[in-house]
Amino acid sequence: MKKYMAVWGALFFCVVCLSLYLMLETLNTSPGRYTDIDAESLAHFEQKVSDIQEDIKRNQIVIDQIKAAVKDIPKDDNQNIEKLQDLIDKQNAKLKFHKNKVIEMQQKPKQPVDVEKYVPATLKEIQLQNPPGKIPATGEEAFVSLRKPVPASKEMCSWVQTPSKKPDIQIEDVVKDLPFDNPDGGAWKQGWNVTYPAAKWNQGNKLRVFVVPHSHNDPGWVKTYDKYYTEQVRHILNNMLEKLEQHPKMKFMYAEISFFHIWWNELDESKKNRVRRLFEDGRLEIVTGGWVMNDEANTHYFAMLDQLLEGHQWLDGTLGVKPSSGWAIDPFGHTPTMAYLLRRSGFNSMLIQRVHYALKKHLAKNKQLEFMWRQNWDKEGNTDMLCHMMPFYSYDIPHTCGPEPAVCCQFDFRRLPGSSYSCPWHAAPKPITDSNVAERARLIIDQWKKKGSLYKSNSVFAPLGDDFRYDKADEWDLQYVNYQKIFDYLQQHPELGVEAQFGTLSDYFKSIYEESKVKPGEKPTDFPTLVGDFFTYADKDDHYWSGYFTSRPFQKNLDRVMESHLRAAEIIFSMALTVSRQQKALNNFPATVMMDRLIQARRNLGLFQHHDGITGTAKDFVVVDYGNRLLKSLEDTKHVIKDCATYLSLAGKENFRMGSNEQPALFDIDETREAHDALPVPKVIDVGEEGDDSRLVLLYNSLAHERDQVVSIHVSSPHVMVQDENNKPVLAQVAPVWEKDDIIAENVYKVSFRVTIPGLAISKYMVKRVAETSNSNTIPVSILVLNVQSDAPIERAPFSIQKTEARDFTLENPYMKATFRGANGLLNTVVTKEDGSIRSTKLDFVMYGTKNHNGDRSGAYLFLPDGSSRPLPDHTPPVIHVVKGPVVSEVQVYFNLVTHVVRLYNSSGVDGISLDIQNIVDIQSQRNMEVAVRITTDVENAEREFYTDLNGFHMQKHRYYDKLTLQGNFYPMPTMAFIEDSKHRVTVLSANSLGFANTQPGVMEVMLDRRLNQDDSRGLGQGVTDSKQTPSRFKLLFETRASGAYSPTNPLAFPSLLAHHTSLQLIHPVFTIPANTGHHSKYPQFSAFSPLATQLPCDTHMVNLRTNQNADDGKDRLVPKHSAALFLHRLGYDCNFVNKGLACSEGSGEVVLSNMFRNMQITVAQQVSLTLMYHEADLDTTGSIDLDPMEIGSYVVTLQ
Ligand SMILES: [Zn+2]
Repeated sequence: MKKYMAVWGALFFCVVCLSLYLMLETLNTSPGRYTDIDAESLAHFEQKVSDIQEDIKRNQIVIDQIKAAVKDIPKDDNQNIEKLQDLIDKQNAKLKFHKNKVIEMQQKPKQPVDVEKYVPATLKEIQLQNPPGKIPATGEEAFVSLRKPVPASKEMCSWVQTPSKKPDIQIEDVVKDLPFDNPDGGAWKQGWNVTYPAAKWNQGNKLRVFVVPHSHNDPGWVKTYDKYYTEQVRHILNNMLEKLEQHPKMKFMYAEISFFHIWWNELDESKKNRVRRLFEDGRLEIVTGGWVMNDEANTHYFAMLDQLLEGHQWLDGTLGVKPSSGWAIDPFGHTPTMAYLLRRSGFNSMLIQRVHYALKKHLAKNKQLEFMWRQNWDKEGNTDMLCHMMPFYSYDIPHTCGPEPAVCCQFDFRRLPGSSYSCPWHAAPKPITDSNVAERARLIIDQWKKKGSLYKSNSVFAPLGDDFRYDKADEWDLQYVNYQKIFDYLQQHPELGVEAQFGTLSDYFKSIYEESKVKPGEKPTDFPTLVGDFFTYADKDDHYWSGYFTSRPFQKNLDRVMESHLRAAEIIFSMALTVSRQQKALNNFPATVMMDRLIQARRNLGLFQHHDGITGTAKDFVVVDYGNRLLKSLEDTKHVIKDCATYLSLAGKENFRMGSNEQPALFDIDETREAHDALPVPKVIDVGEEGDDSRLVLLYNSLAHERDQVVSIHVSSPHVMVQDENNKPVLAQVAPVWEKDDIIAENVYKVSFRVTIPGLAISKYMVKRVAETSNSNTIPVSILVLNVQSDAPIERAPFSIQKTEARDFTLENPYMKATFRGANGLLNTVVTKEDGSIRSTKLDFVMYGTKNHNGDRSGAYLFLPDGSSRPLPDHTPPVIHVVKGPVVSEVQVYFNLVTHVVRLYNSSGVDGISLDIQNIVDIQSQRNMEVAVRITTDVENAEREFYTDLNGFHMQKHRYYDKLTLQGNFYPMPTMAFIEDSKHRVTVLSANSLGFANTQPGVMEVMLDRRLNQDDSRGLGQGVTDSKQTPSRFKLLFETRASGAYSPTNPLAFPSLLAHHTSLQLIHPVFTIPANTGHHSKYPQFSAFSPLATQLPCDTHMVNLRTNQNADDGKDRLVPKHSAALFLHRLGYDCNFVNKGLACSEGSGEVVLSNMFRNMQITVAQQVSLTLMYHEADLDTTGSIDLDPMEIGSYVVTLQ
C-alpha cells in the first residue's frame, strides 16, 4: 500500500510540473514581450519552445501509459511497482530539466546567432560584385523561410519507445564476445573434431537424411546470361525432365526463374505437361523463385521485392506453383530483410550459407545453426522466420555431406576416376558396388551423423550440387545410381540408424516441423530466436568480402537510377492507363507498347540484382551486357514516363494519338547516355529567339508526398524567364556550365528554380527567351575562381567572374552556413543556425593500396588494404569555383582524380536542410587504388558505434573492432549511415550503395571507387580495371536530438523522419520532361495533373503501384490487367529530432482508400501477401488501410 501511495505521489508531482511548464510557456510566447529582438531570433526562440512543448506532450504520453499500467498491477507485485517508480523518476528528471530550460529562456532571451563571427576574416574581404537584376545574387538576402516542423506521431513515438523482447541470440553481442582467433580445427579446418555418441541414432531413433540434387545457375558471371543459358542451363533443364522421369526416386531443386522462363517458352505443350506433373508429384521444387538469387548487401528492398514479385508472378501465373522455402547459398553475406520479404510472401522457412566462419563455428557449437530469424524492430515476434544456416565452408559437395571435405568429395560421383573432374584431397570417389557398399555407407553416414550432431533435430540436409551441375546426362545417372545403392543398403540395415533418400529443401523442413510437432512456419519449441545481420562475410583468415560493397560503383549508381525510373514509370503508367480507360480511348494510348517496356525493365533490373550483377563481381564483358540491358530499360522507362506525363497533362486527349507517326513527340526525355558506361548528358532546351513561344517543361514527382525543392534545367541562352502554370514569373538563377575548370561550355546554361509539386503530380513550367537587357527574375550567378594558374581572363556575360588567390570561404542558406578551406576547397565547418552550434566537419579524399594477405590481394570481392587510409595524392592546389546565386550556391573543386561539388539550396523544403555533395571520380590512370571520402566530425562516439542501413529498409547497429581488421569493419551502405552522441547525429545519405566504415571516433569513410589489378581467387579470374568516370552523390545531414532522449545502449535505432525524406528525395529526384523543341506545330493545351485527393502521411511511402501482367505464356501477355499491386511502407522513425522541411502530415498508419485519389476510384481492394500469391482479405473500399510501423502493406487494387 505504501508503494502505491508513492506511485500516485510521483504522478501527482508530474502533473503539477506539467501545468507549471505550460504556464511558463504561455508567458514566454506572449506577444510583444521581446520587441527588442529581431524576427530570426524570435523564430528560433519559438522553435525551442515548441520543441519543449512537444517533449512535454511526449512525457504526457508516458504518464498516461504509467497510469494505465498502475491499474493492472496486483497489489503485492513489488517488482513491477519498483519498475514503475523508476520510470516515474526518469520522467520527473526530464520534466525538471525542461522546467529549468523554460525558466532560463524566460529570463534571458537568446540572442540571434552571430554566424558572421565564425566566418574567416579573409572571406569578408571578398567582395562579390552584385550583378544586374532585382535581387542581389549573393544568395544570402533572398532566403526563403523553412516550413514549420511536422510533429511526430504519438503512436509512432510510443511504438519506438516500447522495448523489443530480448531474443535468445543477438548477433552484435556474439560478435562482441567472439575472439576471432581462427584456430586450425583439423579435418574441419574452421571447426573442430566433431564426435557423437555411437548410440545416439539407432533402429528406433533414426537420422533422417535428405540428399538434395540442385544446380546453382548464375544469370551472368564468367559468361553472360544468354551464353550460360544456351551452353549450360538449357541442357541442365532438358536433362532434368528426362532423368527425373527415368529415375522415379530422384528429386531436383531449382531457383532462378530468369533462366527457367526461357526454357519453359521453348517447350511444346506435351513437355510442359510433363513438367507440371513433376511439380505436382513434389519431384521438382522451385526454391525462393525470384528472378535471380539476389545479392543482399547492395540491393535496395524495392528491387529485391520487385525481382521476387516478377519470379513469383511468373510461377504462379504460368504454372500455379507457389514456392515456400528460401534458398540463398551464394550471396556474400545475408540480410534479415530477406527473411522479412520471404515471410510476408507466405514462406515458412529459408536457408542461408555465406556467413563468417567464426560465427558459423560459434552457432554450431551451441546447436544454434537453425533459429527463428526476427527483425530487430519486431516487438511481438510476428516476423519470426525459420532459418537454416549451412555449417561449412562452401555449398559444393565436398563441404555439404559433413565436416570432412576429403570424405564428402568421395561421394561426388561426377568426380569418378576417368572423368575430367577430381577430388583435390587425394582420395577419389569409388563406384558403389555390392562388395563395397557396406564400407562406403559407413563412411558417409559418419559424415551425416557428424553434421546431424550440429543441429537440434534428427534430420540432416545434404545438398548434392554445385555451380551449373547436371548439364551432362551421365551425371544424373552417376549420382542417382550410386546414392540409391547406399540408400537401399541403409534400408536393409536398420541397425545403422539412418534412413536416407532423395529430397528437396521443403521435404527437409517438413521433416523438422513433423519432428517437433508444429505447423510449418511455427517455432519448434527448442529453436532459439535470433536478431541481427550476417555482414561482413569472411570465408577464411582475414579475407573479408567487403570489396564488393563498392566494386563497379558506376553500375551500382546506374542500378539505382534505373530503379527510380522503373518505380516512377510503373506508378505513372498505372494512373495513365486508368485515365485512358475512363476516356474509353484505349486506341489513343499505346498500353501494350508501354507494358512491354515495363515487363522488360522489371526483368532487366531484376537480372542485375543477381549476386554477381550489382555486386560488381562479373567479368568485364558480362558487366557490359548488364550495362546495355540497364541502359535499354532506362531509356524505355524514360519514354514511358514522358509519354504518360504527356497524356495525363494533355487537354483534349480524345483527339490525340500518342506514338503514331503523324503525331511527333511533344516532349523529350531529360537526359541521354551515349553508352551504358557514359555519364548522362542533359537535354538542352533550345529557347529560340526573343519573341519565340515559351518552351514547356513538365515536372513529375513520383513520391506520394508534396515536395518543395530546387529543380534545374539546361537551356540555350542565359536570358530566359521561368514561369509557373499561371504564367507568373518565378525567381530563378542562371549559371554557366563548365567543360573544364577554366573553360565554359558554349550555348548551354543551367537554370535553377524552386518548385512545389504535390505527391504523384505533374506540374507545368515554362521557360521563355527574353531580351538581354530584360530585368527578369532570372538572376545570373556570381563566380569566384580560386587557384587558377593561367593569366587569361575567364569571361562570359552576363556572369560576374573574378579570379583570386586561395582563401577560406563560406556558403550559406537559411538553415546553415558552411565554411571551406581555400587551399583545397573542402568542407571545414558547418554552423546550424537554429541552435548556433558550430560543427567541425572536415571532408577529405583518401586512398588505400593493397598488399598480400595470405596469398591474396584486393580484387572484385575482397578488400585487403595495405594499411590505414592516407590522403589522395594531388600535386597542385585544385582550381575552385565558388558560385553564388539566390536559389543555390555551390563550390566546385577540380582535383586530378576527383571533381567535387558541394551545394547549399536556398529552399524551404527538405533539400534546404542538408549539404548536397556530388563527386565524379576517375581513377583510370591508377594501379591498385581505392578512393574514399573521409568525413571527420565532432561526434563523440568513443566506442565507434555506428549504424548503417540494410537494403534501405532498416538500420543495423555496428561497432568498430580492432580484432576484425580494417576490412572486416566495412559494411554495406545501400542508402545511409549515421554516427551520434548524446546531443548530435550526423547522417550521410547516399544515392547508391557503397562501402562504409566508422574508422575512428567521429570519423566516417565512404568508399567511392576501386581499381584493382589482380584476381582475388574467388573464381572470377580477373581484376577490376574497367573503371569509368564514376558519379556519387550524398546528402550530409546534421541533427540535434531533443535533450535527455539518448540511450547509448539501445541496439535499435531509426532514422529521423527528415532523414527518411532526404533519402527518398535523393533516390527519387523530380523528373524533368522538356518540350521537344524540334516540334514546331501548334502545341495543344496542357495543364497540371494532381491525382492525390490526400497526400500520404509523412511516415507512409508508396513503394510501388504496379500494373499486373496477364499470364506470361498467353497471347494477352502484353495486355495490362485491370488490377495493380499497391505497396505502402510505414517508415519507422526516431521522434527525438525536429521534422523540418516537410509538407506532409504526421499520420497514424491509416490510409483512407476512398479518399486517396481524386478523379480515380479504388473500386476493388484486397490485402494480399507481398508477392501477391496469397489472398488475405477483401477490403472495404470506403474504409481505410491500417499499417503497423515498419511493415510493407501489399494490396491488389482496381482503379477506375
Ligand atoms: Zn552464384
